[in-house]
Amino acid sequence: MSIKLHNLGFPRIGARRELKFALERYWRGEIDLEQLETIASGLRKLHWRLQADAGLDYLPVGDSSFYDHVLDTSVLLGAFPERFGQSSGQVDMDLYFRMARGRSADGKSARACEMTKWFNTNYHYIVPELDSGLSFRAACDRLFHWVDEAHALGHKVKPVVLGPLTWLWLGKSADRDFDRLDLLDGMIPVYQRILTRLAGLGVEWVQIDEPALVLDLPIAWQNAYERVYHALQRSPVKLLLTTYFGALGDNVSLACRLPVAGIHIDLACAPDQWLPVVDRLARYKILSLGLIDGRNIWRSDLAVKLDVVRSVRSRYQGELWLAPSCSLLHVPMDLEPETSLAAEIRPWLAFARQKLGELQILGRALTEGEEVVGPELAASALAVQQRRISERLNDKAVKTRVETIAAEDLHRATPREQRLRLQTESLGLPLYPVTTIGSFPQTDAIREARRKYRQGMIKKSRYKQLMKEAIAHAIQVQKRCGLDVFVHGEPERNDMVEYFAEQLQGVTTTQNGWVQSYGSRCVKPPIVFGDVARPRAMTLEWIEYAQSLTDRPVKAMLTGPVTLLNWAFVRDDQPRRTTALQLALALRDEVADLAASGIRIIQVDEAALAEGLPLRKPEQEGYLNWATEAFRLATAVAGDQIQIHTHMCYSEFNGILQALAAMDADVMTLESCRSDMALVDALAQCEYPGQIGPGVYDIHSPNLPDVESIIGRVEKILEWIAPEKVWINPDCGLKTRQWTEVEPALQNLAEAARRLRLSSGAVAVGPYRVSAGGP
Ligand code: GLN
Ligand code: ZN
Repeated sequence: MSIKLHNLGFPRIGARRELKFALERYWRGEIDLEQLETIASGLRKLHWRLQADAGLDYLPVGDSSFYDHVLDTSVLLGAFPERFGQSSGQVDMDLYFRMARGRSADGKSARACEMTKWFNTNYHYIVPELDSGLSFRAACDRLFHWVDEAHALGHKVKPVVLGPLTWLWLGKSADRDFDRLDLLDGMIPVYQRILTRLAGLGVEWVQIDEPALVLDLPIAWQNAYERVYHALQRSPVKLLLTTYFGALGDNVSLACRLPVAGIHIDLACAPDQWLPVVDRLARYKILSLGLIDGRNIWRSDLAVKLDVVRSVRSRYQGELWLAPSCSLLHVPMDLEPETSLAAEIRPWLAFARQKLGELQILGRALTEGEEVVGPELAASALAVQQRRISERLNDKAVKTRVETIAAEDLHRATPREQRLRLQTESLGLPLYPVTTIGSFPQTDAIREARRKYRQGMIKKSRYKQLMKEAIAHAIQVQKRCGLDVFVHGEPERNDMVEYFAEQLQGVTTTQNGWVQSYGSRCVKPPIVFGDVARPRAMTLEWIEYAQSLTDRPVKAMLTGPVTLLNWAFVRDDQPRRTTALQLALALRDEVADLAASGIRIIQVDEAALAEGLPLRKPEQEGYLNWATEAFRLATAVAGDQIQIHTHMCYSEFNGILQALAAMDADVMTLESCRSDMALVDALAQCEYPGQIGPGVYDIHSPNLPDVESIIGRVEKILEWIAPEKVWINPDCGLKTRQWTEVEPALQNLAEAARRLRLSSGAVAVGPYRVSAGGP
């Protein structure tokens, strides 16, 4: 069988995050552009070498961005906002970073471009800003230089460009009536020029990414696909139309019909979709099978993959290519340096390099015969089997607990309104209670204490003492500022997910399993490999200590089940819902312990709830049902007097408002400063039944919010929401800020609340009763 192997994209940040550190040093002015370029080019060379060694027939070029590949496309097309002030010539690196980061070399600041999540991943892209005046021109030669660079090294490459329709789909316009498709006429000639220029460099194939084809597309967009690809058909390269992150579904006929030389489909998300594709695909086209899961870290069952290829082959006589399902950007680069993983777990995993190794084995098995790779196939089968039967995976007690979840486990005893009345009274909360979202500045001293403890340089007792000092300081500051509900400040947490992952059974963490989140920011997702349980309390000691220092209620902080799930690599041998419920049960035990020890407010953060939303509408309801069910399972164990808070970071909330209400939290705080309160409007429209704390302090900005601006924001909120439902708090956690900024900001929040209470005629200090003066 003749088969070709290729890759859609490789992790770009470096096994030791070399690109991250180089970028940050460049931004701080510690290295110059030439040094940055040298480091980046070294990484490109290394990554091509690694991929070439895996026997790939085509290596990707253009996947190794300095910041983001969507922004790369925007500059490639010369399509960026006027405020960056460059309408001709080449886009230089500083302008490029300015669009991403909103800072400028000359001190004048232009607002950064918006950033949002790339499909249903945790990668964030820079949103193209679209309007009717936008013009297109070839404004960046970087891609062409990289192709030359790879050719000079003797590699056979397949440049990657983001397709015009997906680029447009991901773009936003301030003008709601603007039809993004109007821009196509200006774009197509620039795409044609780019493709022609690539052909001139000796390129045969171009990978044109159109993941928007796995979405629900309006009819006008479907038609636009036909139009665009008929126009691009005339370019002198072969196009591999690349789709991933889901099934083509109702776009399958459209995609198969487009006049391109080949098509790539994702068989990790949608294993059966090769069937409808081979029924429709003309034999002269290349079919690229996305066999190896590019979104998760499990080793493949190669025997199963071989069966798939044989089944496809029996129905489709055209040329087959094999690849990972999507770019490997979404998995860590290399398993090799992970020395602290349990010996039993390690063989179950495959990171980017190992995935390419799997591809190579498949290629050889199919072209040279299975006997040639007998030992490799046997090792794969063994790893898969051992994982399936491992004791570490299967905890009977946990499974039984999930199976016996009763309806009443999901519901609190009393309806929310009544509960809130009880809570306000027993907690002695004033009107407009002032609180924070959980974390306080992670000072150098705190980081150093954590690092020393991790490296065994200080004893546990010393570490605990240092953390307690940090907590005591946080409590002092909150007292001084006059907040109503305190937090302990989360000094012991390096990360809101990893902190819990390290303490849960069935979950492991890595040392270097970094994945790019945005720009130079990386995350290290934990790995949920088995049945999850909580061997012992995870947060109790710290919260109890904080509560012992004050009479004000201290709000405990937990990361919610859905956020833990969505920010981790999750097992693929059971539905995500089951894993979410297991995580929820573990958190439920923590909630019960906190409540038993006298903690009266518990916040369960669900920052990533909206991130798990399936791409296709019909699947969204099912997800939201079990996601809210998991939240309620984690929290409904709390008695009526215990107040449950949740917190959401900014995301696309439209479409999930009902789900927010269904979580049945008593209070929800959310990021809202940057969305201009549109969210508050939406929540009011849907009559959100709980109390709400829309952020009135933009924590992403170093600016100190003054009392008047806070009051202004609260007054705006009061146009929609009744006063007795409103909380006053920052947008999100304060861990990235300095104490010198935080303390005056909190003072201003408290002062604003005081003035607002006075002007509302409520008692200035002391308990406010919802029922006072009312029925
Ligand atoms: N409690 C967390 C904090 O304050 C919440 C962080 C988040 O929403 N991303 O840091
Ligand atoms: Zn947040």
